[in-house]
Amino acid sequence: MSTKRCYYETLEVDRDADEGKLKAAFRKLAMKWHPDKNPGDATSEVKFKEINEAYEVLRDAEKRAAYDRYGHAAFEQGGMGGPHGFGAGFASSFSDIFEDLFGMAGQRRGTGRERGADLRYNMEITLEEAFQGKTAQIEIPVSVTCESCSGTGAKAGTKPKTCGMCGGAGRVRQAQGFFTLERTCPGCQGRGQMIEDPCPSCSGSGRVTRDRTLSVNIPQGVEDGTRIRLAGEGEAGVRGGPPGDLYIFLSLTPHEFFQRDGADLHCRVPISMITAALGGEFEVPTIEKGKTKVKIPAGTQSGRRFRIAAKGMPVLRSRQTGDMYVQVVVETPQNLTKKQQELLLEFEKLSSGETHPEAAGFFAKVKDFFGTRAT
Ligand SMILES: [Zn+2]
Ligand SMILES: [Zn+2]
Repeated sequence: MSTKRCYYETLEVDRDADEGKLKAAFRKLAMKWHPDKNPGDATSEVKFKEINEAYEVLRDAEKRAAYDRYGHAAFEQGGMGGPHGFGAGFASSFSDIFEDLFGMAGQRRGTGRERGADLRYNMEITLEEAFQGKTAQIEIPVSVTCESCSGTGAKAGTKPKTCGMCGGAGRVRQAQGFFTLERTCPGCQGRGQMIEDPCPSCSGSGRVTRDRTLSVNIPQGVEDGTRIRLAGEGEAGVRGGPPGDLYIFLSLTPHEFFQRDGADLHCRVPISMITAALGGEFEVPTIEKGKTKVKIPAGTQSGRRFRIAAKGMPVLRSRQTGDMYVQVVVETPQNLTKKQQELLLEFEKLSSGETHPEAAGFFAKVKDFFGTRAT
């Protein structure tokens, strides 16, 4: 009684085509005949429907075997497929193909279980805390599964009823021309169940908001922008879905003394012109709240850096430690008294190319430069 085209012909494949070949052929043809690509073209709509139907059967080993044996008759009234075999499975796997093919956001079918949302918590820590590591107690409002109803949303002692509109599937199908559209059941919003007596603690949502105190372990050496993930500490899932994760975003408050560069710490120390000229020693604080001596040689120039090994930051998840760099900046004296000015002028008279080799060299070059230009 069937005037249908052979499924293999429809998909333009051989009778022994394997799964991969079938899928490739289906993709190609579905793309070609998709109604969105051929608006208003009735032929392409028919083709598209045929292609879907053929693939629907051939991708399923059982249905394919039946088709190979009985042809289209296998799926007609009273055939082995019957309304339950082929008919019932059609719409749901049809949308599977769609999601697979066109990357449509797969709406969850059935129970309406949903993973809880991820939460973000911003935490500021000091450089010292990043150095030492710490255990922080944080309090976050999270929605958790309601204890009174165990998340069902139904008042204690009652049970949610299966939704009459979708029979508990959470989805309803609608025929629209050649297409069967599936959408979230409007009666139960996809839950598949109706609550007649909502739980008073959560008003039927199955979730309540609680302040939860969590202990967060901040490892030594964390950097600005480090993200710590606490799996499963996010919001509770919906209707028994898994919980989301909690992400702690760390930011470091600027330090008054140290700048951080990876595991190294940098600081700038002003020194007097005299110390720079004569050499000397001074103390600088360290991140571990100690002190360390920096010895500078006579004739130290402004901007010179001194490295103090292993006084930097610990490297995250390793036993290494960075270094500390102390940069000296020579401070030019200001607000001089008469006496001081006299002494400096006295000193100036005694200065020479020996005391200021760089300046002497520079001005000698300048002189040369103008000298050669003049001739
Ligand atoms: Zn409840
Ligand atoms: Zn429903």
